[in-house]
Amino acid sequence: MKVSLYLGKYKGIKVFIHWTFSLLLLWIIISNIRSGAAIEDTAWSLLFILAIFLCVILHEFGHALTAQKYGIQTRDIILLPIGGLARLERIPEDPRQELQVALAGPLVNVVIFFFLSIIIYLAGIQLELAEDTHVDGETILLFLASANLFLALFNLLPAFPMDGGRVLRALLSLRMPRVKATQIAGGLGQFMGIAFVFFGLFYNPILVLIGIFIFLGAQAEVTHTTQNALLKGFSVQDVVMRTFPIIAFDAPLSKAIEKLLEGQSTHFVVVKDDAPIGTLSREDIMRGLKEGGESTAVENVANLSPLKLSAYDPLENAYKTMSTGTKKVALVFEENLFLGMIDLENISEFIMVKLALTK
Ligand SMILES: [Zn+2]
Repeated sequence: MKVSLYLGKYKGIKVFIHWTFSLLLLWIIISNIRSGAAIEDTAWSLLFILAIFLCVILHEFGHALTAQKYGIQTRDIILLPIGGLARLERIPEDPRQELQVALAGPLVNVVIFFFLSIIIYLAGIQLELAEDTHVDGETILLFLASANLFLALFNLLPAFPMDGGRVLRALLSLRMPRVKATQIAGGLGQFMGIAFVFFGLFYNPILVLIGIFIFLGAQAEVTHTTQNALLKGFSVQDVVMRTFPIIAFDAPLSKAIEKLLEGQSTHFVVVKDDAPIGTLSREDIMRGLKEGGESTAVENVANLSPLKLSAYDPLENAYKTMSTGTKKVALVFEENLFLGMIDLENISEFIMVKLALTK
C-alpha cells in the first residue's frame, strides 16, 4: 500500500487513493493549459473530477456497508483513475445477498442523481446550459448529475466482474449451480471486456484499461469459483501426504541437501525427539547456504512456527490460507496425532485430478 495515499476511514473501512490518480489530475491541468483555458476553468475541471471521485467513494461504500450487514468485512477501498474498488474479504455465496451487495453501489449513484436533480430544479438552473461543454459554477451540478446517472448505468452493464455482471451471476445462481452461473457470466464478461478494449482504442483510452481489467478479472474469478466448488466437501485428510522426508533440528544443511538431491520432495518435516516442530523448504535451505554455508544447523533456517491444520479442516479453507498467506506448507494433526504434511502443490494436483474427472 506504499504506492497509495491514505485518505481516512469510516466504519472501520480505510480509503486509499492510488498514486496514478495524480497523473489524471496532472493530465487535466496540462490539457487545460494547452487549450489555453483560464485558470478558473481549470480549477472548475479539477473540482468536477474530485466531486465525481467522491461519488465513486460513496458508490463503493454502498457495496461495503451492505456486505458488512452480512458479516463480510472490507479490507479497504482503493481509488484508481479508472474507478474505485471495494476489496471485500469474500463475495457472499447466497445469491440474494450478492444481488443486494452488487446493486447497492449503483443505487447510491441513482440516489445522488435524484438529490442533485432536486437541487437543480429548486435553484432554477437551466438544463440547456449542459450543452455548453465547459464546467463552471453554473453547469457543475448538471454535469455531476449526469455523471452519476452514467456511473449507475455503466456499472450495471453485464460485464462480470462489474456490478451488472454480479447481478447477472446472482440471478442465474438462483436457477443453476453457482459454478455454471459464474462460467456464463464470466464468458459474457470476457466478451464485453474485449469489446471495451476494441471501442476504447478508437474512442477512449480509459475504456481500454477497464476492458483489460474486466477480461482478467472475469478469468480469475471463474477459475477461483470453479476451484472452490471442486474442493467443497473435502477436508485436509483427503490430500495429506502421509509419507514425507524428515530431518533432525540439529542436523547440518549438508544433510538436508543430500536428502533433497536423492528424493523428489521439496519440503521436510523438522523433528526434535521424534516430534514434529517445524518445516524446512528448498528455499529455506538455499537461503541458509548463502548466509552460513553447509554447516549451518537446520533449526537456524527452518520455519519453527509452522502452519498447523486439523485433518478435519475444510480443504477450501486450507487452500485459501496457503494461497493467500506466506506459509505454503502445513503440518496436519488428527487430535494430537501427527498425520503428515500438506502443501499447495498437493492441493493443485487434487484440483487437476478432479477437473480431469469432471470433463
Ligand atoms: Zn460497484
